Amino acid sequence: MTKYEPVIGLEVHAQIHTASKMFCACPVVEDTGDLAPNTYVCPVCTGMPGTLPVINRRAIEIGMLTGLALHCDVAPVSRFARKSYFYPDLPKGYQISQYALPLSVDGYLEIEVNGVTRRIGVTRAHMEEDAGKLYHQGDGGSLVDLNRAGVPLLEIVSEPDMRSVEEAAAYANKLRAYLVYLGVNAGDMEKGMIRFEANVSVRPVGADVMNPRHEIKNLNSFRALTRSVAYEIENQIATLEAGGTVVQQTVGWDEAAGVTVPQRGKEEAHDYRYFPEPDLPPLEIDRAWVEELRAQLPELPDAKQARFVADYGLDDYDAALLVEDRAVADYFEAVAADMADTAAIESVHVAPKVVANWVTGELFRLMKESGQDVGETHVPAGALAELIALVEDDTINQNTAKEVLAEMFASGRRARQVVEEKGLAQISDTAALESVVVRILADNPDEVAEYLAGKEQILGWLMGQVMRVTRGQANPQVARELLQRQLSQIQG
Ligand code: ADP
Ligand code: MG
Ligand code: ZN
Repeated sequence: MTKYEPVIGLEVHAQIHTASKMFCACPVVEDTGDLAPNTYVCPVCTGMPGTLPVINRRAIEIGMLTGLALHCDVAPVSRFARKSYFYPDLPKGYQISQYALPLSVDGYLEIEVNGVTRRIGVTRAHMEEDAGKLYHQGDGGSLVDLNRAGVPLLEIVSEPDMRSVEEAAAYANKLRAYLVYLGVNAGDMEKGMIRFEANVSVRPVGADVMNPRHEIKNLNSFRALTRSVAYEIENQIATLEAGGTVVQQTVGWDEAAGVTVPQRGKEEAHDYRYFPEPDLPPLEIDRAWVEELRAQLPELPDAKQARFVADYGLDDYDAALLVEDRAVADYFEAVAADMADTAAIESVHVAPKVVANWVTGELFRLMKESGQDVGETHVPAGALAELIALVEDDTINQNTAKEVLAEMFASGRRARQVVEEKGLAQISDTAALESVVVRILADNPDEVAEYLAGKEQILGWLMGQVMRVTRGQANPQVARELLQRQLSQIQG
């Protein structure tokens, strides 16, 4: 059997959340699902005769910022072009896009999969306008809503550089993080802010050929992206192994059935009759403007991750988890700064690694359970810092702290309050713990004998007894020391 490798290229459409649409003054409004249809429309975005488009300067700036972030060259001259086709959600009969002269070209994005860093080429990032939306009715009719028509879009086309589902997912994920960092949009896939198209072909490993591809249209979740690409890879290999051929075509993803469905023969560029948009002048971009924008680039995920590793001593994995969402990264830094302040006052020193563990462990778990973003939770950075300080100064132990955090998360109360109200402060008092330890050893002579005969795991069991009796509030370190001391006295 021949060994095959997949060849994958992604096209990503990102809405740009500017105040107004790409070519008219209509506001760009978030699609919450209950917006009255056709309310944010005007003669321009509904394609009325005699209207003229005007380029949205801010949309171009965001397009350029994204291009720069992706290491692209911003073209000194770019051009809008008409992409002609008929569809009921496109009243003009053409979409204003860019074709021969896109806004920016020739960049890359780095991804990391299984510890291997790879550069995925970005062919181009160009500007265009979104189409409207169709609502298909039960009776076979369809309704047209043009609120979305004319919303600025950035189309980012990758080189066919990805070689696995994991790489495609990593690229999509990283690109989404970049777009959110850059303020292109909020990254909400359910609201259609980012949509993917995946181009997939397969070839024998090592072969230097580009085989005909399937283009999977309109993928609007990471799940749909990864499942559909995995399906295509498997299916194309099976086709070739059975002696068949893969023909170039456009396919759709049937989420329920878990299969792709042929839609049409793949269209070619000439089918769209691209030609320069006669209603808009070429876009000449001053170099000074480009440099001004370059200076405005925020710290991007890769740079932030590297800084977290260098400055906080985090490992790559934790740093990557923290920077994926800019709000989480800011939150982590706020807690770490707070802990540093505490250290100065109370000499409680907490490694940033400990903070990272709390954020990516318990806090993420609670956020996932409740479906909340970090900004929505009842646990501001200062509150988490207080909780961690209580663990570090031995007021409570690690397990109790998890309970306390859950309580803080649910009610918004602060750590000290929860600890006091529930009497959770841990018992570090040696005298108090010593009597507990002595009693447990006296009550369990068989286990003590086993331990003394060399079965060291019994110590863990005895610790469990101490925790049970103290309702989890014993300081584990003190308890362990006391147990060991008492046991060696018995032995001696
Ligand atoms: P189109 O405009 O028809 O979609 P493009 O040339 O712009 O075509 O390519 C679209 C995407 O397809 C790009 O992301 C590119 O990397 C990818 N691609 C091109 N050839 C192949 C191939 N043989 N297998 C997989 N992906 C491919
Ligand atoms: Mg395409
Ligand atoms: Zn309009």
